[in-house]
Amino acid sequence: MDYDIIVVGGGPAGMTAAIYAGRGGWNTLLIDPMGGGGQPSTTDTIYNYPGFPEGIGGTEIMDLMARQAKAFGVKIAFDEVARIDKEQEGGFRVTTGEGGHTAKAVVYAAGTHPRKLGVPGEEKYLAKGISFCATCDGALFRDKVVAVVGGGDSALTEAVFLTKYAKEVLLIHRRDEYRAGMANVKLVRENPKIKELLSTVVESVRGEEFLTGITVRDLRSGEVRDLEVQGLFLYVGWTPNVEPVKHLVDTDDHGYVLAAEDMSTKTPGLFVAGDVRRKPLRQITTAVGDGATAAWSAENYLLLRGAK
Ligand SMILES: Cc1cc2nc3c(=O)[nH]c(=O)nc-3n(C[C@H](O)[C@H](O)[C@H](O)COP(=O)(O)OP(=O)(O)OC[C@H]3O[C@@H](n4cnc5c(N)ncnc54)[C@H](O)[C@@H]3O)c2cc1C
Repeated sequence: MDYDIIVVGGGPAGMTAAIYAGRGGWNTLLIDPMGGGGQPSTTDTIYNYPGFPEGIGGTEIMDLMARQAKAFGVKIAFDEVARIDKEQEGGFRVTTGEGGHTAKAVVYAAGTHPRKLGVPGEEKYLAKGISFCATCDGALFRDKVVAVVGGGDSALTEAVFLTKYAKEVLLIHRRDEYRAGMANVKLVRENPKIKELLSTVVESVRGEEFLTGITVRDLRSGEVRDLEVQGLFLYVGWTPNVEPVKHLVDTDDHGYVLAAEDMSTKTPGLFVAGDVRRKPLRQITTAVGDGATAAWSAENYLLLRGAK
């Protein structure tokens, strides 16, 4: 086998699993298309991760985690995993775009990807006005009008962040109240640049080369309106990145992997961690907890098989 443990995904869950596995002395490879970063690197500042009373930059915390993993001898591959298979002799073959690797155990922490709206015009304006990352693209909309769609904490946080650049932020949510916590609702309501459009859905988007507007429907009155916006940021939910392990795990109706408390799956030696698994709270704190537990369980699995 090439490695004792392969960790798939370099978000907080995967990085933590790699830190624990590396520190435990296991020959560990972490695979991520960007070498790590995950969702935190798409947000400006994290305010609720313990130990940082002033907050910490999303990219900064992920860079620190990657440095820590490397310091414990973890190798990091810039690659994407296409499929994971259980080998006859008990280990795993991890097939990537660049070839493949083998390992005695795998921690799968590939997170989620953002959902689209599924409305006419959307595909045409992806990356031409439609974005999933305010931190990456917000500065392109200085003094413009942008809309944010969603009612969870990500949508509200990013709406507030976008007021740094945009002259107006329309916050569009299909329900009449948010799913987000009170702290973020308060920040939205105190911000004069944010206009809330509750019980409202986006019906279509339009533009020329770039996005110029959206059509929305008020679900209470049925009124349909055209709004001029140059940017549209979508935070309408997530889909788990489960494809490479789909045949090795059980999932719930939404595709999230079912795991035991020790992060084990129905395939011995395959552990999951972070947002990709079914759980009540998807945050950095819970992802790092999952990552530590998954690495600990992988270590026990290897020790029971006399791997060290
Ligand atoms: C805009 C935004 C703001 C947020 N703000 C906060 C906050 O303030 N506080 C907080 O606690 N949480 C916040 N979150 C949520 C938090 O970021 C996630 O809960 C957390 O990142 C989940 O970690 P993860 O490691 O499970 O997954 P992810 O962070 O999604 O990382 C998964 C990694 O796996 C990689 N990957 C995917 N498929 C493959 C593959 N086939 N092969 C190899 N690698 C793959 C991805 O590229 C990614 O790097 C925020 C999320 C967003 C989007």
